This record gives sequence, C-alpha cells and structure tokens, in this order.
Amino acid sequence: MVTLSLTPELLAKLQSRQPLLWLNPRLGQPLPASAPSLELIAAAEARLARCTPLMAALFPELASSHGQVESQLMRAAELQYALGGNVDTEGAWFIKRDDELPIAGSIKARGGFHEVLAIAESIAIERDMLDPDGDRRVLATEAARKLFSQYSVTVGSTGNLGLSIGVMAAALGFDAVVHMSADAKAWKKYRLRKRGVRVVEHEGDYAQAVAAGREQASAAPRCHFVDDERSALLFFGYAAAARHLARQLAEAGRVVDAAHPLFVYLPCGVGGAPGGITYGLKALLGDHVHCFFAEPVASPCVLVQLASGSDDPVSVYDIGLDNRTDADGLAVGQASHLVSPLMASQLAGVFTVPDDQLYVQLLALKTSMGVEVEPSAAAGIGGPGWLRDAPEGRAYVRDHGLDMRDATHVIWATGGSLVPREELHRFQAYATALAHVPGAMHKAA
Ligand SMILES: *Cc1c(COP(=O)(O)O)cnc(C)c1O
Repeated sequence: MVTLSLTPELLAKLQSRQPLLWLNPRLGQPLPASAPSLELIAAAEARLARCTPLMAALFPELASSHGQVESQLMRAAELQYALGGNVDTEGAWFIKRDDELPIAGSIKARGGFHEVLAIAESIAIERDMLDPDGDRRVLATEAARKLFSQYSVTVGSTGNLGLSIGVMAAALGFDAVVHMSADAKAWKKYRLRKRGVRVVEHEGDYAQAVAAGREQASAAPRCHFVDDERSALLFFGYAAAARHLARQLAEAGRVVDAAHPLFVYLPCGVGGAPGGITYGLKALLGDHVHCFFAEPVASPCVLVQLASGSDDPVSVYDIGLDNRTDADGLAVGQASHLVSPLMASQLAGVFTVPDDQLYVQLLALKTSMGVEVEPSAAAGIGGPGWLRDAPEGRAYVRDHGLDMRDATHVIWATGGSLVPREELHRFQAYATALAHVPGAMHKAA
C-alpha cells in the first residue's frame, strides 16, 4: 500500500462509499511545464474538419451532417424542475447529448475516431498514397483499404472505446482487434464482431485488458495500440469538443464570462474524455468555466490520484475499494498518467455517485425528458445539486464570488443510444423498484 496524504476524514468517507464532493485545492495553479501545447487542440480540430468528407464517404448515416460527428446541446428545464432546481436562483441546465453521437453512440467517438483518422493519415502519407494537403477521401478507396489491411489497430476496453476504435478502424480496412475484460457487455462484443472486428476476451478488470492488448501489440510489427491510459491523440480528439460547445452555447444565447459562469459535469473513467474536454474548455474560457468530474463511489480514481497529491500512480484498490460498479464506462481503478497532472490545476472538483443513484437519475432523465442513457452517462446529473445544496458546493460558489442566477450548467450525457432496448428497460425498471424503497431516493431529489 502506497503512502497516501489523503486526510483521515476524506479517506474514511471514500472507504465507506459515502457520496461526497471533493474540491481541488490546486485549482488555478499554473499548468506543469510538460503540459502539451494548446496548438495540438487546433490541430485536432483541423484534422476532424478536413476528414468530414471522408467520414461522409465511409458512413452513409453521416450524410445529413456532411460527415461531422457532433451532438446537440439540449435545454433541460424539465429535468431541472424534476430534481428541485430553480432557474431563477441557480441558472439554466442543459444536457450535452453525446449519448447520441453517430456510429459509436458514446463520447468515445470523439477521441477514438480522431486517433484512428490520425493513424490512417500518417500511414497513407508515409506510403505515398496521400498528399499532406490532399483530399482525405482517398483514404476510402480500394487501394487505401488494401494498404490498411496490412496494419492492425488494437485497443483494450470495457466496451465503448472498443466500439469506437473497432468500428472506425474496420471501416477503413484495418485489421481491428479489441481486447475486452470478461465483464464487458455481450451486445457490445456481438456488435463489434458483426462489423468485422476481432474481439479478444480477458479475465480481470479493464486495466488488465489494456495491459494484455499493449503487450500483444508491442510484439507485433505494423500494429498501432490505442492506449487509453496515455494517448495524446485520444485526449486532443476530446479537447476538440470545446469550440463546438462554445458555439452551441452562444447560439442558445448563453453568455460565458465573469458574471455568467459555466459549470460542466463530466462522467469520468480513466479521465481521458472528461480531461480532454476540460483542457479544451479551459483553453477557450479560462476561469469562467468550472469543470467537475463524476465518479462512482467504488471507482473514484481521479479523485484519489489528485487528492493524494502524489505524482506516483495511486489506485482505488490502494484504499480498499473494489472498483465494482454497474457504470461500466467508469469502472477504472487508476487514472490516466497523461491526464491527472493536467487536471491537478484545472479541475474544480470531483463528486462521487453510488450505483443506485445512477439508476434514479437515469429514470429522472427518462421520465422528465424522454432521454434514455446508460448508467455511466447519468453520473453528471447530480452536479448542480451538489453546488446548490452541499456545504462544499456552496463554499465553492462563495469563495469564487460567483453569481449563480445567470449561470449555465452543462450535464454531459456520455452514452446510451446503441444500448439494446431491453437493457435500457431493465435499467429503468430497477430504478422504479428503488423508488419504492424508503431512503433510496436520498440526494437524487
Ligand atoms: C469512457 C466513458 C466515459 C469516461 O471517459 P474516460 O476517458 O474513461 O474518463 C464516460 N461515459 C461513458 C459512457 C464512457 O463510455
């Protein structure tokens, strides 16, 4: 067991799986010297933009968006009302609908598609098939498929990252291999296999699937391993979401400045997706944006890493947690090595969510707005309530001198549209049953 500098109170609360809001004492400090250049965000935006004609050529379902993979920002007045919020005193709630992102059905489309496109571009340029300034649609030709079939793209995943990488890589003709933990959902494996992806199953948790994938890939020539624990290409694919969100907020008439703070609540697994989005938003909006991560009580890996103050890896197992949660997209024991040093000065805080509360929130979203998401994707919904009702949340608002009346709250919904109907109904039925158990609704309403 590593030495932890968590306070005894925090440690005890984490170990007893009490939901809590942790505020980051290092928020606002300078980024480390090793922080990646902000130009890499612009580079990712440019890559995604120049690849839209290619994406439209590869995926007929992108015809209406001209190849752009983006999601709507939806006003969430009904959800806000259902959960006791008040638009006059706390500002307006929105939901960012990444649960509907095309093709991959989750937030992983952002990072995953970006990384596979970057690999494809670099191979094609190196092999003289693509001019660096050329039309990317050449990557959808038979000649390109033949070239890519000599290469494999490998990833270790609990599910959604595998779906995103696997489907994108297979669409370009790569030999796509997804290493999954045995607990990954059967429908995800089925869906991948149907798309021509090879699925390799492993005993143990997500980190072990990643490690197995990394090892097999390093031994093979012409194999690119997408490393969820350290990939900059994934990270910047996520970061590219920021500019689009800023545009959507402007279109919705929401100002973001000192008098109009923006709060963003992001479900967090290894930290790559929420960390990349936070990095992008902080680069654009600075102190006016306040990003909070939501983690399951059994898997608060970013909280534990940041609160420990240590540069050495710290895992939830080190404090006796078991990393067992129904939020399979968030079931990660140890935070990304790339992301935690960056979040150490950018993240406002982390709140934790018990599994039962995920279901209650998921049902509230369905009942109030007809939006159906998977348990992981419901994790952020409690965010505005933490700021409104909890002493820590109120202290945050007070200490930063924030006027909440004109605040905007963005709850990031991260996955769900590919989940089979029966499974969604099972989630909702479980939540309905919980609602009849006295005490089960605490904190959610
Ligand atoms: C992966 C995932 C997340 C979190 O992303 P990380 O990069 O692992 O932090 C959140 N929600 C869903 C549905 C996911 O699949």
